[in-house]
Amino acid sequence: MEIYEMTIHQIRKLIEKGDITAQEVTEAYYNRIDNVESDVKSFISLTREKAEAQLDNLSDKKGILAGMPVGLKDNISTEGILTTCGSKMLEDYCPPYNATVTNKLQDAGAIFLGKTNMDEFAMGSSTENSFFHNTHNPWDLDYAPGGSSGGSAAAVAAGEVVAALGSDTGGSIRQPASYCGVVGFKPTYGSVSRYGLVAFASSLDQIGPITKDVTDSAIMMNVITGHDPHDSTSVNQDYPDYTDFLKEDVKGMKIGLPAEYFDIDFDNEVKESVLAAVKKLEDAGAEVEEVHLTGAEYALAAYYVIAPAEASSNLARYDGVRYGYRSEKDDDIKNMFTHTRHEGFGPEVKRRIMLGTYALSSGYYDAFYLKAQKVRTIIKEDFDNLFKDYDLIISPTAPTTAFKLGEKKDPLEMYHADIFTVPVNIAGVPAISIPAGFDSKGLPIGLQMIGPHFGEGKILQAAYTLEKILDINKKRVKL
Ligand code: GLN
Repeated sequence: MEIYEMTIHQIRKLIEKGDITAQEVTEAYYNRIDNVESDVKSFISLTREKAEAQLDNLSDKKGILAGMPVGLKDNISTEGILTTCGSKMLEDYCPPYNATVTNKLQDAGAIFLGKTNMDEFAMGSSTENSFFHNTHNPWDLDYAPGGSSGGSAAAVAAGEVVAALGSDTGGSIRQPASYCGVVGFKPTYGSVSRYGLVAFASSLDQIGPITKDVTDSAIMMNVITGHDPHDSTSVNQDYPDYTDFLKEDVKGMKIGLPAEYFDIDFDNEVKESVLAAVKKLEDAGAEVEEVHLTGAEYALAAYYVIAPAEASSNLARYDGVRYGYRSEKDDDIKNMFTHTRHEGFGPEVKRRIMLGTYALSSGYYDAFYLKAQKVRTIIKEDFDNLFKDYDLIISPTAPTTAFKLGEKKDPLEMYHADIFTVPVNIAGVPAISIPAGFDSKGLPIGLQMIGPHFGEGKILQAAYTLEKILDINKKRVKL
């Protein structure tokens, strides 16, 4: 197996035995980037100099990620390094500080190879809304990698980095992980600091890892979770060692399959593959039952009110004065604002700002925003009630496998890719996407496991067990 195909824990063993050095690992990944990046285009910027400086400072570090080449989604702040959010608005923006997760990874010894491509301001499900370029799915370059963390998922799947961070507001870690055949984890809201994550919808956004397997996911979670006084929504409590949950054991675990999800008309190959995987968990001793999520049918509608509403407020700061792009048409201040925002934002971001502003405006607030918040409460209660009796909920991650680049022209059609992922953010609970199989086109199928607030451990345990049973995650892309 090539170094670029290995996981964090495999590379770590080799480094510990002295079979390979951190320098050689980084070199192997940079060679891989040289060979495949022109086809996959996972990155907005490569940070070779930063990586070399980190390597030089590494000698005395024994961190769990010492020498591990990672990628960061380009909405995660990196001091002095471009953080564009995939937008013309921030094309030249270098933050003056690091996000908390950036510091945490750095302290654990990680080497930053680059900032990964994304839908502009994380709005999208295909990474096609990036101002810069499209990213290609490493399993088939004609296909989209999913989004909005499509660059991170593609980079991990293509072996350009060993792991990456993404952000997930309505599925943006899990859905691209699913399309790219890797593992994506959206932690409980409040368990990973959002300090330095450029805000999209603050009550939904969470940072999480995209990795090649479940063990690496647990390792990355150990590094990034924890209380942070810089983020007022960060939960101050003890966080477990997530690797303690890497056990092959689902005996007696109670798993719910939401009828409202499986009744939807979606790709049969995805449905069959997920149900076959669930059957294997049942054979291994889990108890599986049909359950109900009464609010599920309104989740997408509620999400596409709440997320744009928050975005319209968060994105008000991009006015040409404080951050980023400023229009040349600045004869008077009002014109300057208008032209800056007209020229600096892409069409999907403008659509969200308009939707959100409309939903919040007087006369419409009750009908849209307030109603969406009520649906949010119902969805949260649905999950709270289910988790009184069940350990986990299982569903597909997305209703289909990856779609072709350019295929989805209607924004509403694109929004449907999020149908199984948005309820999780609305409720603030954690969920993972792991590979469950491949469709007849050879594209990966993702399975989602959802747990209760701070139930990451059980999710990891079941995901680890299923990964061992299915034994498909050793398959790597051919590029
Ligand atoms: N696809 C969803 C959206 O466009 C989710 C995005 C995300 O999780 N950042 O809003």
